[in-house]
Amino acid sequence: MKVTIFGTGYVGLVTGTCLAEVGHDVICVDIDVSKVEGLNIGIIPIYEPGLESMVRDNHSAGRLRFSTDGATAIEHGETIFIAVGTPPDEDGSADLQYVLAVANTIGRHLTQSTVIVNKSTVPVGTADKVRATIAAELAIRALDIKFEVVSNPEFLKEGDAVNDCMRPDRIVIGANSDGAVEQLKRLYAPFNRNHDRVVAMDVRSAELTKYAANAMLATKISFMNELANIAERVGADIEHVRKGIGSDPRIGWHFIYPGAGYGGSCFPKDVQALAHTARQYDYEARLLNAVEAVNESQKGHLFELIQRHYGADLSGKTFAMWGLAFKPDTDDMRAAPSRTLLQQLWGAGVEVRAYDPEARHEAERIFGERRELVLCDSAFEALQGADALIVVTEWKQFRSPDFTDLKLALSGKVIFDGRNLYEPTEVERAGISYYGIGRGRSI
Ligand code: NAD
Repeated sequence: MKVTIFGTGYVGLVTGTCLAEVGHDVICVDIDVSKVEGLNIGIIPIYEPGLESMVRDNHSAGRLRFSTDGATAIEHGETIFIAVGTPPDEDGSADLQYVLAVANTIGRHLTQSTVIVNKSTVPVGTADKVRATIAAELAIRALDIKFEVVSNPEFLKEGDAVNDCMRPDRIVIGANSDGAVEQLKRLYAPFNRNHDRVVAMDVRSAELTKYAANAMLATKISFMNELANIAERVGADIEHVRKGIGSDPRIGWHFIYPGAGYGGSCFPKDVQALAHTARQYDYEARLLNAVEAVNESQKGHLFELIQRHYGADLSGKTFAMWGLAFKPDTDDMRAAPSRTLLQQLWGAGVEVRAYDPEARHEAERIFGERRELVLCDSAFEALQGADALIVVTEWKQFRSPDFTDLKLALSGKVIFDGRNLYEPTEVERAGISYYGIGRGRSI
């Protein structure tokens, strides 16, 4: 099938590449000229395991093209995806300007009957706005072209996005007609072979389903962080508690890890946007507000532990930081806990020697050259002469350091473990003080 995708970010690029991989003829459109130029010569703007070779192969095979020419791409697509960003507005609502700009472009250039699929995470009612925007442009052109706007929210996880796209656990399709559902089922058939993963529903329910999924996951994380804070005060170890509850199948093992707070481009903005939508409908979403508030304060917890150890005056200290990305296997630093901590440390006069396996270029882009941040080429290099190590992102390569080497490299002998990667007793046996999240022993 001929497919057009607006937006070549994490969602658009991965979706377009996976659709090309199974044989569809895909054009990806972006307004970012340098991104498109780069993609056309094999430069992938994001780090996502497995993506680079798939983009190159499908591009060379001619099934995956990148363009800034919206008009030609719209003429090409029997199915047109919208996969542009929906960042938070100042009041927490989702900013729809990019989605509606694409709708406007579609309305100005549509020449044939088409299914328009919204993959961006958008508040309930957005499909109606997209439909109205396209219809208004068609009216100006005095054209009567049939089109349908479908909601097909995306559930891929950064860091495992290609796998999620090739092997989705569900394909939610919110549509008002059987014809549109059938068209998307044909498009997704190669990903839907061994059992039917399509969950068809009305458009508004599909739009809400995406927020429900992210809000539920964020709630689990904030719940565990709340519990960790209680554990710390009552002298219990949250890691024992986690193991004690995860074995209950009604609770499960996933997303019950305490830590330095959730970040990324989705959970923070989606929890806020859902709460905002509820408010617009005269409902105060108290649980969602609490999930957000717990997370905000949790992002400051590592700094509290650091001050608990050293006292309020941190000026002149140097800390090693392992991990900048908001989670492992991505270079994405949007709303990352590392950013909150860096600002707090810099505010207190601390210099940071940071290492992240993939986010270095992102850190350079965000922070530029600054004296208080030294970006290192290895985890070991970051430790040199530092007063303490702070672990912020749980990359696999940080899981089993040699604590004897680590102690030699650090000038101060302290670890602040924001992801509970280490056994406190093992670290302490090596002669290093240990602070984790919710590990009651550490008070
Ligand atoms: P992103 O910021 O990585 O990419 C968005 C892209 O859209 C950018 O390259 C931008 O230049 C482009 N763009 C903006 N306006 C455009 C226009 N008018 N025409 C063409 N391109 C345009 O965003 P993302 O992380 O891929 O997220 C996209 C949407 O998917 C968001 O709504 C997000 O909430 C949702 N989502 C993201 C993830 C994720 O893990 N990143 C997962 C599921 C859903």
